[in-house]
Amino acid sequence: MCHIYAGRGMFNIILFGPPGSGKGTQSARIARDFDFVHLSTGQILRNLIAHNTLTGKLVKKYIDRGYLVPDDIVLRELFREAMEHSEGRGLIFDGFPRTVYQANIFDRLLEKKEIPVAMVISLKVTDDELFRRIISRAKDSGRSDDREEIIFKRINTYETETKPLIEYYRGNGRLVEISGMASVEKVYGEIKNSIDAAMHRINRGQDENR
Ligand code: AMP
Repeated sequence: MCHIYAGRGMFNIILFGPPGSGKGTQSARIARDFDFVHLSTGQILRNLIAHNTLTGKLVKKYIDRGYLVPDDIVLRELFREAMEHSEGRGLIFDGFPRTVYQANIFDRLLEKKEIPVAMVISLKVTDDELFRRIISRAKDSGRSDDREEIIFKRINTYETETKPLIEYYRGNGRLVEISGMASVEKVYGEIKNSIDAAMHRINRGQDENR
């Protein structure tokens, strides 16, 4: 069972959704408005590729094929980044966890380090719209995985490996499902309201426990 709770004053969020659902864009806005640190595993992995290290070369093989990068690499790199920012106001995990295995390991580490996750936001977008968005983004993203056949593969990987996480997190009462079909502003408005509400709930709970 996953232990998600609030403590130590940090407010950490997991934002997940299929490729093209707007995770990156929305995470950047949350980070800006709430003064949180945005941790995107996709970006962390692309940085490894850019530095052309041995790990980077291996990572590229998976990303370019639309497969998930092996858990040990992702977990090591993400934890390193998360620990660097463990004293801030909050972290946004964008694109992590992506498998139930990652979520399990993550929960154990969070518990040990007392870096709690206050809420899990799932963005929902139809496959047609995802495909349309990524094709349009591909024109200037420069991403090697924004190609037609790889986009299908990534959406498929999401369906089979990441979507089961929705049930995993539904059980602990912190899951908020938001439609990502509207404009960036509208979706952000909903996300912001749900974060404000969760912060309010947590503060009220802490006041009552004093
Ligand atoms: P994203 O930028 O979130 O779309 O991620 C781009 C690619 O990076 C994905 O298609 C995966 O190959 C890889 N990736 C990102 N996050 C993870 C993760 N948590 N676990 C495994 N692979 C990941």
